[in-house]
Amino acid sequence: MQELGEPKFRARQVFEWVYKGVSTFDEMANLPKALRTKLSETVEIALPEVLDMQVSKTDGTRKFLFGMRSNNKNVDVKDDNSGGEAIESVFMKYKYGNSICISSQAGCRMGCKFCASTMNGLTRNLTAGEMIGQILKVEQSIRNDGRIGHIVVMGTGEPFDNYDNLAKFLSIAHDPAGLNISMRNITVSTCGVIPGIERFAEDFPQTNLAISLHATTDEMRSSMMPINNRYPLDELINAAKKYTDKTGRRITFEYTMVNGVNDSDDDAIRLSKLLKGMLCHVNIIPLNKVNGTGFDTVSRKRATEFAKLLDGYHIPATVRRELGSDIDAACGQLRLKHR
Ligand code: SAH
Repeated sequence: MQELGEPKFRARQVFEWVYKGVSTFDEMANLPKALRTKLSETVEIALPEVLDMQVSKTDGTRKFLFGMRSNNKNVDVKDDNSGGEAIESVFMKYKYGNSICISSQAGCRMGCKFCASTMNGLTRNLTAGEMIGQILKVEQSIRNDGRIGHIVVMGTGEPFDNYDNLAKFLSIAHDPAGLNISMRNITVSTCGVIPGIERFAEDFPQTNLAISLHATTDEMRSSMMPINNRYPLDELINAAKKYTDKTGRRITFEYTMVNGVNDSDDDAIRLSKLLKGMLCHVNIIPLNKVNGTGFDTVSRKRATEFAKLLDGYHIPATVRRELGSDIDAACGQLRLKHR
């Protein structure tokens, strides 16, 4: 607004209209006519376009493939080779309410060896508006199911590799005139970018943090997740401890189980030693097999046994409920299919 020579409060007025669901500047009754015209000529209010949607017959999970516009707003997605990108969001129903998993980047440059989202590298960061847009568009399409009350930033991308946009997104999601979602109902997942964890503890002490651990030795973790070469296990665990000391919040450690790689009893013992005494919870995810990675999944039975072993060592652990297993709901697979 200041760039347009307008006072700052006008931006707040526009913000409030947008989150009331208004989609043209003409409807913004408390803006002067001249400003409405100026805005219509220079700015666009747009939600992502649905390129594909899959609905699970078993549990109502819906997976969306969204077309994002390029940064050049005069180019239509379909004709655009300069950044218009497809990204995924997943809508899930839980006992405690509706939840959405959103993407923070188009692609990813973290290079985890088992993950579909990183296979073609990073195309670009998503803006805060594009993260919010995923939620608004999904809410439009699930009207009969009510509102979305929980957000997980666990789709494509590493949120702490796009920190500034993530921070803006979190503020808007939380704002009473924005989505009005409690910080406690939002979870951000990182592969272990330590400077991001430190900033996050400072900036968003009420938002939940999940850390993708997946291995119990540096050798194994580095072979699965290149980020471990930069931020090794002991430094990561230390950062996690500092995070809980500062925020008082329980960390979720994600542990994707891969057959013959990180699924032995010894792994469970090492994991419980690593996390001993920490305010945490382990979320075990049987690998969603991605063709071409060479990694295989474990049985649900083995995952449950592993969780029981951890519980026996006083580390609370649960196996993630399998949602949308009859559709391509798993981790970046729909997006890959469309390339
Ligand atoms: N970059 C962030 C968030 C996105 S991934 C992170 O790494 O945490 C969300 C979770 O899904 C991570 O724990 C990730 O390691 C895991 N994941 C990725 N591909 C997977 C697959 N094929 N099967 C099971 N979990 C996977």
